[in-house]
Amino acid sequence: MRIAIVGFGIAGASVLIQLSKQYQFNPDTDRVDIYESRPRLGAGMPYAEDDDAIVINSFPKSLTLNDDDSEDFIKWMNAHYPDFDVANEFAPRTIYGAYVNERVTPYLEQDYVRLIPAKVADFQVVNSQGQAIYHRPLAKDADPLQYQVFSEALGWSKNYDAVFFAVGHPPYKDPYKLQGTGNFIHNPYPFKTKLADVDNYKRIGIVGSGLTTIDLINFFVKHDLLHDRVLNVYFRHQPFHAVIQPETTEEFHFTIDDDWIAAQRVQHNGSVPIAVVIDQVKKNLLKNGIDYHHVWDNFNTGSVQTVTKAIRQDDEDYRRFQGFFRSFYSVQNKLMGVLNQEDKAYYAKDMSAIMLMIYLQVPKQSISMILELLQTGQLKLINGLTAIEPQADGDYKVVANGIHHQSDLLINATGFDGRLSHVQKTNTLLGNLYRRNLIISDQADQILATYPSAQPMNPNFYVLNRVYFLGYWISSTQGGNTSVALTKSQARVAVADFIAQSE
Ligand SMILES: Cc1cc2nc3c(=O)[nH]c(=O)nc-3n(C[C@H](O)[C@H](O)[C@H](O)COP(=O)(O)OP(=O)(O)OC[C@H]3O[C@@H](n4cnc5c(N)ncnc54)[C@H](O)[C@@H]3O)c2cc1C
Repeated sequence: MRIAIVGFGIAGASVLIQLSKQYQFNPDTDRVDIYESRPRLGAGMPYAEDDDAIVINSFPKSLTLNDDDSEDFIKWMNAHYPDFDVANEFAPRTIYGAYVNERVTPYLEQDYVRLIPAKVADFQVVNSQGQAIYHRPLAKDADPLQYQVFSEALGWSKNYDAVFFAVGHPPYKDPYKLQGTGNFIHNPYPFKTKLADVDNYKRIGIVGSGLTTIDLINFFVKHDLLHDRVLNVYFRHQPFHAVIQPETTEEFHFTIDDDWIAAQRVQHNGSVPIAVVIDQVKKNLLKNGIDYHHVWDNFNTGSVQTVTKAIRQDDEDYRRFQGFFRSFYSVQNKLMGVLNQEDKAYYAKDMSAIMLMIYLQVPKQSISMILELLQTGQLKLINGLTAIEPQADGDYKVVANGIHHQSDLLINATGFDGRLSHVQKTNTLLGNLYRRNLIISDQADQILATYPSAQPMNPNFYVLNRVYFLGYWISSTQGGNTSVALTKSQARVAVADFIAQSE
């Protein structure tokens, strides 16, 4: 069996770990080729080598790479950074990357694994002789589909029986069309290099107010870059979504599990109406004694007042509400695949506020620091952003609530452009897959894929058997694969499917 893993961040690394655990490799005949051009293997973009001002926003147990030990990352931190209080502080992301790299190295050293430090630019479906084919052969006894990948360095590969695409995040958005203009940093990562000369600028603006903004503020403070300047953060509505409450060790009781989902599918002919899901989630919250009305009424906006309240008062309902949804996260992912298209659209649009409140959370320490900076006047949060106009001298005129602001340097923090139809124009691999009709957009403009194994679907081959997508691009079928824990669990599903298809 010849297998390719394209991209080796957490998703690719999790695929290799799961393959090594679940599949009986024959080192004489089996091979796994890993295509990844980044130097730090397993870390991907978020945990690459970078400034240690940028911290993780998940509790350490959810970050383990050892299925048998949820404390593995905590123990590793205690051994390597004994002075760091990992139970109460969020670790720098770059340090987490070192942990991942160390844990994945033994798997990379297996005889059947070969690392190819190259980017994959293209992919085709072939027959067993290596000739490209453009639709599924109709003959009953036709060979299984095989695949080749293309890289500039090596040209077309030999045939693969299976390909796992784990290519990670979309590029950043550019809502004000600033890319390529004056002093605009479109993607600030890695901070170490992209922000190396920010001290040369006086009036610095950040566009957007998500988690990247928190990273940026941490960086400016840690390196004392705010000494004689004001940092302006421009955004449209609210600056934050929610504050992470202390971890709870409580076990929550759910009636929504695999059996419940299966029973509902029978009752509703295949899909589960979102109203039924919402009703059941509410019942589960109440059953666990969580007053969700109280939480929603008090913490539903990301305003400065709300986050101030969230860090000053230890609200038991809020803490338990977050703990409940943290435990519920993996079930929620499974539910994504059983909603019908209309309900998925409702979920994406009408439930986005509550989903952001539940999952886009900022550590308390970061919010406290921001509140202090607001008091000293070193940070300004400016809402009502409507337009940004580049000026001839490289500066920018930023319009918010009708007021004009000037910036010498603008740093983009507007989040990812997750639309496949857009991104295929700039991402070589996705563009080639799209033009070859091998991946097509679903209603959310992500990759249409099978549930739950996430194999891409298209009109010519129906399903690309033993080809899997992991990570961001399958979120509308598999739920947001946007955390270490979920990324790992999707890898387990894909590998289990691969093994079932290979028997
Ligand atoms: C800034 C940031 C912070 C985050 N913080 C957290 C956090 O604190 N906690 C948490 O749980 N989650 C966090 N996440 C979520 C994160 O998405 C997941 O934790 C996880 O890292 C995603 O892994 P991935 O392998 O899907 O993607 P990535 O880590 O992006 O890895 C994809 C890899 O594919 C490679 N690649 C891409 N295209 C090709 C190609 N054509 N050929 C070969 N290789 C290719 C890239 O070089 C990259 O190494 C964060 C995400 C971001 C962006």
